[in-house]
Amino acid sequence: MLEIRDLRKSFGQAEVLRGVDLTVRHGEVSCVIGPSGSGKSTLLRCVNHLEKVDSGRIEIDGELVGYRESGGRLRELPDRAVARQRARIGMVFQNFNLFGHLTVLENLIEAPVGVLGLSKVEAARRARDTLRRVGLDGREGAYPRQLSGGQQQRVAIARALAMEPELLLFDEPTSALDPELVGEVLAVMHDLVRAGQTMVVVTHEIGFAREAADSVVFLDGGEIVESGPPVEVLSNPAHARTREFLQRTL
Ligand code: ADP
Ligand code: MG
Repeated sequence: MLEIRDLRKSFGQAEVLRGVDLTVRHGEVSCVIGPSGSGKSTLLRCVNHLEKVDSGRIEIDGELVGYRESGGRLRELPDRAVARQRARIGMVFQNFNLFGHLTVLENLIEAPVGVLGLSKVEAARRARDTLRRVGLDGREGAYPRQLSGGQQQRVAIARALAMEPELLLFDEPTSALDPELVGEVLAVMHDLVRAGQTMVVVTHEIGFAREAADSVVFLDGGEIVESGPPVEVLSNPAHARTREFLQRTL
């Protein structure tokens, strides 16, 4: 489903991703862990084409993200084609990124109407379905500020789901939450895992990674230091850098 090969990205002199490889199969969950500044957000942003890559390839279902091949060269896709690709990828951010001046329902129907061309009636029906999935039916008329952080993040997840994404990216979805609100968001994420949603989750929740991930990737200094099943990477890491990171995190 997602295939990343030798991805490189610099900001000025700083090489933030130094040849990252990552494969996520249909229905699988990959958890990315690593210290602050290791390039985790940049990696997700490249997949979602929020950042342009310097070199390497990102493919989703065999389709290059942001480029097409022609005569052995890569050419940038026009904006409309990029928008179409991005519509297939959902993203959930640390700080929810809801539209504060819109109600929950309006947040949820905006992209299905504006990007997918659904009617408002159809989009509203879909929005109610996704709100039910995150345990927030009945809150259509609320504004984000009237909701707790955990509820806001669940609305953000519902908003991503309303686009029926093939791939869902999470960037530290529980890091901005009060500790007592983390569980309700993780519970929704566990439901998505059970439903077979393909996901890449950047997280500091080692317990979630242990239970939910098919593979765990430890990123440090823009490089994948090790990756593999959670029992290997989290319980029996091969590298000293991974062990040190886990000791600091736990
Ligand atoms: P993480 O999510 O693992 O904390 P990031 O991907 O956010 O790491 O950042 C990796 C490095 O890239 C950091 O040193 C950060 O300062 C730098 N960086 C990220 N985005 C930008 C940007 N838009 N411009 C310049 N530097 C950036
Ligand atoms: Mg980050």
